[in-house]
Amino acid sequence: MKQPFKLSWNTVEKLAELYTTPFLVLSLSQGEYNYKFLQQYLPGVKVFYAMKSNPEPSLIKKLAALGSSFDVASDGEIYALSEMGIAPERMVYANPVKTARGLAAARQVGVRQFTFDSASEIDKIAGVIPGATVLLRIRIDNDASLVDLNKKFGADAGEALGLLRRARERGLDAAGLCFHVGSQNTSAEAYLYALSVSRRIFDAAAHEGIRLRILDIGGGFPIPTGDLNVDVKALAERIQKQLAIFFPDTEIWTEPGRFISGTTMNLVTRVIGTQVRNGKQWYFLDEGLYGTFSGILFDHWEYEMETAKTKKGPEIEATFAGPSCDSLDIVSRDRKTVPLNVDDLILVPNCGAYSSASATTFNGFAKAEIVVWEEVKEKLQESMMAVS
Ligand code: PLP
Repeated sequence: MKQPFKLSWNTVEKLAELYTTPFLVLSLSQGEYNYKFLQQYLPGVKVFYAMKSNPEPSLIKKLAALGSSFDVASDGEIYALSEMGIAPERMVYANPVKTARGLAAARQVGVRQFTFDSASEIDKIAGVIPGATVLLRIRIDNDASLVDLNKKFGADAGEALGLLRRARERGLDAAGLCFHVGSQNTSAEAYLYALSVSRRIFDAAAHEGIRLRILDIGGGFPIPTGDLNVDVKALAERIQKQLAIFFPDTEIWTEPGRFISGTTMNLVTRVIGTQVRNGKQWYFLDEGLYGTFSGILFDHWEYEMETAKTKKGPEIEATFAGPSCDSLDIVSRDRKTVPLNVDDLILVPNCGAYSSASATTFNGFAKAEIVVWEEVKEKLQESMMAVS
Protein backbone atom coordinates (compact mmCIF):
# COMPACT_ATOMS: atom_id res chain seq x y z
CA MET A 1 0.00 0.00 0.00
CA LYS A 2 1.43 3.38 -0.93
CA GLN A 3 2.11 6.14 1.61
CA PRO A 4 -1.06 8.18 2.19
CA PHE A 5 -1.45 11.64 0.71
CA LYS A 6 0.61 14.16 2.68
CA LEU A 7 1.61 17.67 1.67
CA SER A 8 5.27 18.58 1.87
CA TRP A 9 6.07 21.36 4.29
CA ASN A 10 7.18 23.54 1.44
CA THR A 11 3.79 23.09 -0.22
CA VAL A 12 1.96 23.80 3.04
CA GLU A 13 3.71 27.15 3.24
CA LYS A 14 2.97 28.01 -0.38
CA LEU A 15 -0.68 27.03 -0.05
CA ALA A 16 -1.03 29.16 3.08
CA GLU A 17 -0.14 32.16 0.93
CA LEU A 18 -2.97 31.32 -1.47
CA TYR A 19 -5.72 30.23 0.96
CA THR A 20 -6.90 31.51 4.31
CA THR A 21 -6.41 29.03 7.13
CA PRO A 22 -7.95 26.78 8.22
CA PHE A 23 -8.30 24.92 4.92
CA LEU A 24 -8.47 21.29 3.85
CA VAL A 25 -6.70 19.86 0.83
CA LEU A 26 -8.52 16.91 -0.72
CA SER A 27 -6.68 14.44 -2.95
CA LEU A 28 -9.08 12.84 -5.42
CA SER A 29 -6.35 10.53 -6.66
CA GLN A 30 -5.94 9.18 -3.11
CA GLY A 31 -9.70 8.49 -3.07
CA GLU A 32 -9.35 6.72 -6.41
CA TYR A 33 -6.41 4.68 -5.11
CA ASN A 34 -8.36 3.62 -2.01
CA TYR A 35 -11.42 2.62 -4.06
CA LYS A 36 -9.32 0.63 -6.51
CA PHE A 37 -7.38 -0.99 -3.66
CA LEU A 38 -10.58 -2.45 -2.23
CA GLN A 39 -11.68 -3.57 -5.68
CA GLN A 40 -8.35 -5.28 -6.21
CA TYR A 41 -8.30 -7.19 -2.93
CA LEU A 42 -12.04 -7.82 -2.71
CA PRO A 43 -12.64 -8.68 -6.37
CA GLY A 44 -16.27 -8.89 -7.42
CA VAL A 45 -17.48 -7.15 -4.26
CA LYS A 46 -19.79 -4.23 -4.99
CA VAL A 47 -18.66 -1.06 -3.21
CA PHE A 48 -21.27 1.29 -1.69
CA TYR A 49 -19.22 4.26 -0.44
CA ALA A 50 -20.57 5.39 2.96
CA MET A 51 -20.87 9.08 2.13
CA LYS A 52 -21.48 9.99 5.77
CA SER A 53 -17.73 9.77 6.28
CA ASN A 54 -17.08 12.54 3.78
CA PRO A 55 -19.87 13.87 1.54
CA GLU A 56 -17.66 16.32 -0.40
CA PRO A 57 -19.26 16.43 -3.89
CA SER A 58 -15.97 16.27 -5.81
CA LEU A 59 -15.05 13.04 -4.01
CA ILE A 60 -18.50 11.58 -4.61
CA LYS A 61 -18.36 12.47 -8.30
CA LYS A 62 -14.92 10.92 -8.60
CA LEU A 63 -16.11 7.68 -6.99
CA ALA A 64 -19.29 7.67 -9.05
CA ALA A 65 -17.20 7.99 -12.21
CA LEU A 66 -15.16 4.99 -11.08
CA GLY A 67 -18.37 2.96 -10.78
CA SER A 68 -19.01 3.14 -7.04
CA SER A 69 -22.45 2.79 -5.53
CA PHE A 70 -23.39 4.58 -2.28
CA ASP A 71 -24.59 3.89 1.25
CA VAL A 72 -27.07 6.60 2.24
CA ALA A 73 -28.60 7.22 5.64
CA SER A 74 -31.02 10.12 5.27
CA ASP A 75 -33.20 12.17 2.94
CA GLY A 76 -30.37 14.72 2.67
CA GLU A 77 -27.91 12.13 1.37
CA ILE A 78 -30.46 10.67 -1.05
CA TYR A 79 -31.30 14.08 -2.53
CA ALA A 80 -27.63 15.11 -2.68
CA LEU A 81 -26.74 12.04 -4.75
CA SER A 82 -29.83 12.34 -6.89
CA GLU A 83 -28.97 15.96 -7.70
CA MET A 84 -25.52 14.76 -8.81
CA GLY A 85 -27.26 12.45 -11.28
CA ILE A 86 -26.56 9.21 -9.41
CA ALA A 87 -29.23 6.63 -10.17
CA PRO A 88 -31.33 5.24 -7.27
CA GLU A 89 -30.25 1.70 -8.15
CA ARG A 90 -26.78 2.72 -6.98
CA MET A 91 -27.99 3.55 -3.47
CA VAL A 92 -28.70 1.40 -0.44
CA TYR A 93 -30.56 3.14 2.37
CA ALA A 94 -28.45 1.52 5.08
CA ASN A 95 -29.74 3.25 8.18
CA PRO A 96 -31.64 0.50 10.04
CA VAL A 97 -34.04 3.08 11.52
CA LYS A 98 -35.38 5.45 8.90
CA THR A 99 -37.24 8.73 9.25
CA ALA A 100 -40.53 9.48 7.49
CA ARG A 101 -38.68 12.11 5.45
CA GLY A 102 -36.00 9.59 4.51
CA LEU A 103 -38.57 7.09 3.30
CA ALA A 104 -40.44 9.81 1.40
CA ALA A 105 -37.17 10.82 -0.30
CA ALA A 106 -36.45 7.18 -1.18
CA ARG A 107 -39.90 6.88 -2.71
CA GLN A 108 -39.58 10.12 -4.63
CA VAL A 109 -36.11 9.36 -5.99
CA GLY A 110 -36.77 5.64 -6.56
CA VAL A 111 -34.43 4.02 -4.00
CA ARG A 112 -35.59 0.44 -3.42
CA GLN A 113 -32.80 -1.16 -1.37
CA PHE A 114 -32.93 -0.93 2.42
CA THR A 115 -31.55 -2.43 5.59
CA PHE A 116 -33.61 -3.09 8.72
CA ASP A 117 -33.19 -4.71 12.11
CA SER A 118 -36.67 -4.74 13.65
CA ALA A 119 -40.28 -5.67 12.97
CA SER A 120 -41.40 -2.05 13.25
CA GLU A 121 -39.06 -1.09 10.42
CA ILE A 122 -40.52 -3.78 8.17
CA ASP A 123 -43.94 -2.23 8.57
CA LYS A 124 -42.59 1.27 7.91
CA ILE A 125 -40.78 0.23 4.71
CA ALA A 126 -43.66 -1.90 3.43
CA GLY A 127 -46.05 1.01 4.02
CA VAL A 128 -44.10 3.43 1.84
CA ILE A 129 -42.19 1.28 -0.68
CA PRO A 130 -44.19 -1.92 -1.32
CA GLY A 131 -42.06 -4.80 -2.55
CA ALA A 132 -38.77 -3.11 -1.55
CA THR A 133 -35.59 -5.18 -1.40
CA VAL A 134 -34.46 -5.51 2.22
CA LEU A 135 -31.36 -6.80 4.00
CA LEU A 136 -31.58 -7.77 7.65
CA ARG A 137 -28.82 -6.25 9.75
CA ILE A 138 -27.47 -8.67 12.33
CA ARG A 139 -25.46 -7.81 15.42
CA ILE A 140 -21.78 -8.76 15.52
CA ASP A 141 -20.02 -8.16 18.82
CA ASN A 142 -16.43 -7.06 18.34
CA ASP A 143 -13.97 -5.46 20.76
CA ALA A 144 -11.34 -4.72 18.10
CA SER A 145 -12.99 -1.68 16.55
CA LEU A 146 -12.55 1.96 17.52
CA VAL A 147 -16.26 2.73 17.14
CA ASP A 148 -18.69 0.01 18.24
CA LEU A 149 -21.80 0.07 16.05
CA ASN A 150 -23.30 -3.10 17.45
CA LYS A 151 -24.83 -1.77 20.65
CA LYS A 152 -27.18 0.52 18.79
CA PHE A 153 -27.91 -1.62 15.72
CA GLY A 154 -28.38 -5.22 14.66
CA ALA A 155 -30.86 -8.00 15.39
CA ASP A 156 -29.77 -11.07 17.35
CA ALA A 157 -28.96 -14.00 15.12
CA GLY A 158 -31.74 -15.86 16.94
CA GLU A 159 -34.33 -13.34 15.75
CA ALA A 160 -33.19 -13.40 12.14
CA LEU A 161 -35.49 -16.05 10.72
CA GLY A 162 -38.58 -14.56 12.32
CA LEU A 163 -37.76 -11.13 10.92
CA LEU A 164 -37.00 -12.43 7.42
CA ARG A 165 -40.26 -14.39 7.47
CA ARG A 166 -42.18 -11.33 8.54
CA ALA A 167 -40.57 -9.19 5.83
CA ARG A 168 -41.66 -11.75 3.25
CA GLU A 169 -45.19 -11.89 4.67
CA ARG A 170 -45.41 -8.11 4.36
CA GLY A 171 -44.61 -8.41 0.66
CA LEU A 172 -40.99 -7.27 0.86
CA ASP A 173 -38.19 -8.90 -1.10
CA ALA A 174 -36.19 -10.43 1.78
CA ALA A 175 -32.95 -10.57 -0.19
CA GLY A 176 -30.13 -10.94 2.30
CA LEU A 177 -28.20 -9.96 5.38
CA CYS A 178 -25.86 -7.17 6.36
CA PHE A 179 -23.62 -6.44 9.27
CA HIS A 180 -21.09 -3.85 10.38
CA VAL A 181 -18.22 -5.10 12.53
CA GLY A 182 -17.56 -1.60 13.91
CA SER A 183 -15.57 1.28 12.53
CA GLN A 184 -11.76 1.41 12.31
CA ASN A 185 -11.75 -2.33 12.84
CA THR A 186 -8.36 -3.96 12.84
CA SER A 187 -9.33 -7.62 13.19
CA ALA A 188 -10.05 -10.09 10.39
CA GLU A 189 -11.60 -12.38 13.03
CA ALA A 190 -14.62 -10.12 13.42
CA TYR A 191 -15.41 -10.39 9.70
CA LEU A 192 -14.75 -14.13 9.64
CA TYR A 193 -17.04 -14.66 12.62
CA ALA A 194 -19.72 -12.51 10.97
CA LEU A 195 -19.43 -14.59 7.79
CA SER A 196 -19.93 -17.84 9.69
CA VAL A 197 -22.99 -16.45 11.53
CA SER A 198 -24.35 -15.21 8.20
CA ARG A 199 -23.81 -18.59 6.53
CA ARG A 200 -25.85 -20.30 9.25
CA ILE A 201 -28.71 -17.85 8.78
CA PHE A 202 -28.56 -18.22 4.97
CA ASP A 203 -28.87 -22.01 5.40
CA ALA A 204 -31.70 -21.80 7.93
CA ALA A 205 -33.56 -19.36 5.68
CA ALA A 206 -33.11 -21.63 2.65
CA HIS A 207 -34.66 -24.42 4.70
CA GLU A 208 -37.80 -22.31 4.93
CA GLY A 209 -37.76 -21.47 1.24
CA ILE A 210 -36.33 -17.96 1.73
CA ARG A 211 -33.50 -17.81 -0.81
CA LEU A 212 -31.13 -15.09 0.33
CA ARG A 213 -28.92 -13.78 -2.46
CA ILE A 214 -27.10 -10.69 -1.12
CA LEU A 215 -24.61 -10.34 1.74
CA ASP A 216 -23.48 -6.85 2.72
CA ILE A 217 -20.31 -7.01 4.82
CA GLY A 218 -20.59 -3.34 5.86
CA GLY A 219 -17.70 -0.96 6.40
CA GLY A 220 -15.10 -0.84 9.15
CA PHE A 221 -11.90 -1.14 7.11
CA PRO A 222 -9.34 0.95 8.98
CA ILE A 223 -7.48 4.06 7.93
CA PRO A 224 -3.88 2.84 7.82
CA THR A 225 -2.36 5.82 9.62
CA GLY A 226 1.29 6.09 10.63
CA ASP A 227 1.26 4.40 14.03
CA LEU A 228 -1.44 1.82 13.32
CA ASN A 229 0.21 -1.41 12.41
CA VAL A 230 -2.50 -2.97 10.26
CA ASP A 231 -2.19 -4.64 6.90
CA VAL A 232 -5.44 -3.87 5.08
CA LYS A 233 -4.39 -5.99 2.11
CA ALA A 234 -3.98 -9.05 4.34
CA LEU A 235 -7.28 -8.25 6.05
CA ALA A 236 -9.12 -8.05 2.73
CA GLU A 237 -7.47 -11.20 1.43
CA ARG A 238 -8.58 -13.21 4.46
CA ILE A 239 -12.14 -11.97 4.04
CA GLN A 240 -12.06 -12.75 0.33
CA LYS A 241 -10.81 -16.27 0.96
CA GLN A 242 -13.64 -16.94 3.41
CA LEU A 243 -16.20 -15.41 1.07
CA ALA A 244 -15.08 -17.76 -1.67
CA ILE A 245 -15.67 -20.74 0.63
CA PHE A 246 -18.89 -19.65 2.36
CA PHE A 247 -20.57 -17.50 -0.27
CA PRO A 248 -19.38 -18.51 -3.74
CA ASP A 249 -22.76 -17.76 -5.37
CA THR A 250 -23.88 -14.79 -3.31
CA GLU A 251 -23.76 -11.15 -4.40
CA ILE A 252 -21.43 -9.41 -1.95
CA TRP A 253 -21.66 -5.74 -1.05
CA THR A 254 -19.46 -3.57 1.16
CA GLU A 255 -20.03 -0.09 2.62
CA PRO A 256 -16.59 1.40 3.30
CA GLY A 257 -16.48 4.95 4.60
CA ARG A 258 -13.30 5.84 6.43
CA PHE A 259 -11.03 3.56 4.41
CA ILE A 260 -11.90 5.45 1.24
CA SER A 261 -12.06 8.99 2.62
CA GLY A 262 -9.71 8.99 5.63
CA THR A 263 -6.43 9.46 3.82
CA THR A 264 -7.80 11.89 1.21
CA MET A 265 -7.53 15.07 3.28
CA ASN A 266 -4.87 17.21 4.95
CA LEU A 267 -5.80 20.15 7.19
CA VAL A 268 -3.69 23.27 7.40
CA THR A 269 -4.36 25.33 10.51
CA ARG A 270 -2.52 28.16 12.20
CA VAL A 271 -1.56 29.27 15.69
CA ILE A 272 -3.64 32.35 16.55
CA GLY A 273 -2.66 32.78 20.21
CA THR A 274 -0.13 31.60 22.78
CA GLN A 275 -0.47 31.73 26.52
CA VAL A 276 1.11 30.25 29.62
CA ARG A 277 -1.53 29.18 32.15
CA ASN A 278 -0.57 27.76 35.54
CA GLY A 279 2.94 27.25 34.23
CA LYS A 280 1.72 25.27 31.19
CA GLN A 281 1.99 26.29 27.58
CA TRP A 282 -1.22 26.75 25.58
CA TYR A 283 -1.52 27.29 21.83
CA PHE A 284 -4.78 28.44 20.30
CA LEU A 285 -5.48 27.35 16.72
CA ASP A 286 -7.88 28.72 14.12
CA GLU A 287 -9.51 25.26 13.87
CA GLY A 288 -11.03 23.33 16.75
CA LEU A 289 -13.41 20.77 18.13
CA TYR A 290 -16.40 22.42 16.49
CA GLY A 291 -14.67 22.25 13.10
CA THR A 292 -12.51 19.60 11.46
CA PHE A 293 -11.40 18.29 14.85
CA SER A 294 -15.01 17.31 15.60
CA GLY A 295 -13.85 13.75 14.98
CA ILE A 296 -12.20 13.84 18.41
CA LEU A 297 -15.68 13.89 19.95
CA PHE A 298 -17.77 12.03 17.41
CA ASP A 299 -15.23 9.55 16.08
CA HIS A 300 -12.89 9.02 19.07
CA TRP A 301 -10.11 10.03 16.69
CA GLU A 302 -6.63 11.20 17.70
CA TYR A 303 -5.23 13.45 15.02
CA GLU A 304 -1.61 13.49 13.99
CA MET A 305 -0.24 17.05 14.02
CA GLU A 306 2.95 18.28 12.45
CA THR A 307 4.16 21.59 13.76
CA ALA A 308 6.31 24.08 11.90
CA LYS A 309 9.00 21.96 10.32
CA THR A 310 11.37 24.83 9.89
CA LYS A 311 11.59 25.36 13.67
CA LYS A 312 14.28 23.71 15.70
CA GLY A 313 14.82 23.48 19.45
CA PRO A 314 14.00 21.32 22.45
CA GLU A 315 10.44 20.04 22.59
CA ILE A 316 8.00 21.19 25.23
CA GLU A 317 4.56 19.90 26.25
CA ALA A 318 1.64 22.06 25.23
CA THR A 319 -2.14 22.09 25.11
CA PHE A 320 -3.70 22.91 21.74
CA ALA A 321 -7.10 24.59 21.85
CA GLY A 322 -9.61 25.61 19.19
CA PRO A 323 -10.77 29.18 18.52
CA SER A 324 -14.25 29.13 20.08
CA CYS A 325 -15.16 30.55 23.47
CA ASP A 326 -16.13 27.11 24.76
CA SER A 327 -13.79 25.55 27.32
CA LEU A 328 -14.58 22.12 25.85
CA ASP A 329 -12.84 23.21 22.66
CA ILE A 330 -9.50 21.53 23.30
CA VAL A 331 -7.81 19.56 20.55
CA SER A 332 -4.89 17.98 22.37
CA ARG A 333 -3.35 18.09 25.84
CA ASP A 334 0.29 17.64 26.81
CA ARG A 335 1.39 17.17 23.23
CA LYS A 336 5.10 17.36 22.52
CA THR A 337 6.03 20.19 20.18
CA VAL A 338 8.75 22.63 19.38
CA PRO A 339 7.87 26.07 20.84
CA LEU A 340 5.47 27.90 18.52
CA ASN A 341 4.52 31.48 17.80
CA VAL A 342 1.42 33.19 16.51
CA ASP A 343 1.06 32.57 12.75
CA ASP A 344 2.96 29.26 12.75
CA LEU A 345 1.32 26.63 10.57
CA ILE A 346 0.26 23.12 11.57
CA LEU A 347 -0.38 20.23 9.21
CA VAL A 348 -2.87 17.49 10.06
CA PRO A 349 -2.75 14.53 7.65
CA ASN A 350 -5.31 11.69 7.35
CA CYS A 351 -8.28 13.79 8.42
CA GLY A 352 -10.68 12.97 5.58
CA ALA A 353 -13.17 10.84 7.50
CA TYR A 354 -15.78 11.95 10.04
CA SER A 355 -14.03 15.31 10.41
CA SER A 356 -15.26 18.02 8.07
CA ALA A 357 -18.44 15.93 7.71
CA SER A 358 -19.40 16.71 11.30
CA ALA A 359 -17.93 20.23 11.49
CA THR A 360 -20.23 23.05 12.58
CA THR A 361 -20.20 26.84 12.36
CA PHE A 362 -20.58 27.22 16.14
CA ASN A 363 -19.63 30.65 17.42
CA GLY A 364 -19.69 31.99 13.87
CA PHE A 365 -16.49 30.30 12.70
CA ALA A 366 -16.82 29.22 9.08
CA LYS A 367 -16.11 25.61 8.19
CA ALA A 368 -12.64 25.05 6.74
CA GLU A 369 -12.68 25.54 2.99
CA ILE A 370 -12.01 22.35 1.02
CA VAL A 371 -9.68 22.71 -1.95
CA VAL A 372 -9.02 19.91 -4.41
CA TRP A 373 -5.33 19.02 -4.62
CA GLU A 374 -5.43 18.12 -8.30
CA GLU A 375 -6.76 21.63 -9.08
CA VAL A 376 -4.57 23.44 -6.56
CA LYS A 377 -1.41 21.86 -7.91
CA GLU A 378 -1.85 23.79 -11.14
CA LYS A 379 -2.51 27.03 -9.30
CA LEU A 380 0.66 26.49 -7.28
CA GLN A 381 2.73 25.92 -10.38
CA GLU A 382 1.34 29.13 -11.89
CA SER A 383 2.14 31.16 -8.76
CA MET A 384 5.66 29.71 -8.67
CA MET A 385 6.17 30.59 -12.32
CA ALA A 386 4.96 34.14 -11.64
CA VAL A 387 7.60 34.51 -8.90
CA SER A 388 10.53 33.10 -10.88
N1 PLP B 1 -22.39 1.45 6.87
C1 PLP B 1 -23.09 1.82 7.96
C2 PLP B 1 -24.48 1.32 8.10
C3 PLP B 1 -22.53 2.64 8.94
O1 PLP B 1 -23.24 3.00 10.01
C4 PLP B 1 -21.21 3.12 8.74
C5 PLP B 1 -20.57 3.99 9.73
O2 PLP B 1 -21.14 4.45 10.68
C6 PLP B 1 -20.53 2.74 7.58
C7 PLP B 1 -21.13 1.89 6.67
C8 PLP B 1 -19.14 3.20 7.29
O3 PLP B 1 -18.28 2.66 8.20
P1 PLP B 1 -16.70 2.88 8.09
O4 PLP B 1 -16.48 4.32 7.96
O5 PLP B 1 -16.20 2.29 9.35
O6 PLP B 1 -16.23 2.11 6.90
